Amino acid sequence: MKSPNWNRIVIKVGSALIAPERNGCSSHYLLSVASFIVRCRRQGIQVVLVSSGSVAAGSHLFRKSKNTSGHDKKAMAAAGQTEMMATWDRLFDFSSAQILLTDEDLRDRERFVNIRNTIDSLLENDILPIVNENDTITTDRVKVGDNDNLSAMVATSVQADTLIICSDIDGLFDSNPQLNANASLISEVRDINEQVYAMAGGATSAVGTGGMRTKIEAAEKAVSHGVTTYIVNGFDQRSFDMLIQGKNPGTLFHPHQTPLQESKHWVRHTTKALGEIVVDDEFSLSPKQSVDSLSSSDLIDVVGEFSVGDVVLLRTDSGEKIAKAKTNYSSCLLDFVAQQGDASLNQKIDGTPKPILSNKFSAIMEAQ
Ligand code: GLU
Repeated sequence: MKSPNWNRIVIKVGSALIAPERNGCSSHYLLSVASFIVRCRRQGIQVVLVSSGSVAAGSHLFRKSKNTSGHDKKAMAAAGQTEMMATWDRLFDFSSAQILLTDEDLRDRERFVNIRNTIDSLLENDILPIVNENDTITTDRVKVGDNDNLSAMVATSVQADTLIICSDIDGLFDSNPQLNANASLISEVRDINEQVYAMAGGATSAVGTGGMRTKIEAAEKAVSHGVTTYIVNGFDQRSFDMLIQGKNPGTLFHPHQTPLQESKHWVRHTTKALGEIVVDDEFSLSPKQSVDSLSSSDLIDVVGEFSVGDVVLLRTDSGEKIAKAKTNYSSCLLDFVAQQGDASLNQKIDGTPKPILSNKFSAIMEAQ
C-alpha cells in the first residue's frame, strides 16, 4: 500500500466538527481525525493540530441571550477552550500541549521564531501540539480571525510540508454544491488566481468563522511557502483513509516549485502593514526589484503611526501597492522628511548603511 511522503503536517479541524450541535464538544466526528493522527504518528510523521471550537464548545455554558456581546464570546472561548482540549485529550494515549496565539505573536518576528522552536521541542518529545487563536484576549485590531489562515501561518512557521484543512464539503467545487446539483469537485489546483477565488464564493460555515474563501487564502499562503495543501471533507472517514494511502480525497493545491524566501514569505503572508509610505506615481523599484532603491527624496506622504521595525506598505499616490517591508525609521521621522524636505536629514538617512526599508524583510506585491 502506498503511504504519504510526509515528514511534518498540520491538520486544521473546525468548530463544526468539534461542536456540531453548538452544545458542547462531541467526539462523534473527531474519532476519525484522531485515528488519522495516530496512524500518521505511527508512520513517523510529525503532526500539529490546529483546532477551532472554543467558542462553539463554551457557548452552551452561558445563559441564552439574544444579544451575545464580544465579551460574552471571549468568555465562552475561555470556558470552551478547556472543554475542547479535554475532548481531544480523551482520544489520545499520548500527551498534548495547548498553544494559544494571537496575530500579534505571529507578526512579531522573534515570537514567530519562538513558536517554531517550541513546537519543534514538543514534536521531538512526541507531544501533540494543539493550536488555537487566543480568542479570549484578541481584539479586532489584533486577530487572525479564522483558523484556516492561522493554520497556514502555523504550517509556514513550523516548516511543515503538508497542510490538511478539513471542511464540511469534499473540497473546492466549480460552483456552490448547495445551490447547484451539477457542481463538480476541482481535484487539483496549480495556480490560485481570481478564478479560483470566484469559485470559492462567500460560502461560510454556520458554526465557525471560516468558509471556502478563507481556506483558499490559507492554501495561497501555504503553497507559496512550498507547503502542499489539501481541502478535504472532515466529516467523511474515507477522506482520512485515502490521505493515509497517499491519495487525494478532495482538492489538492500544488506547492510552488520555487517558494518565497522564508523572511519574505513572513512579511508577505503573516504580517500586517501598520502604516503606509507613499511615493510618486512615477516611482519604480530598481531593476533588481529591491526596496533598497527607495530614497528619502522619493517620499511624498506617510500614513498612520509606526515604529522602527514595524511592517509598512509602500504604495504610489494613486494607490498601487509596490511592496510590504520592515521599516528602519519611524513614521514620525519619515513624515517630517516627506513634509519638510530637510536636505541635511535626507543626506543623513540616505548616507547610513540602513536603507529606509529592509530588503531582507520585504515582499514585492504582485500586479493587481
Ligand atoms: N478560534 C475560534 C474558536 O476556537 C474559531 C475560528 C474559526 O472558526 O476559524 O472558536
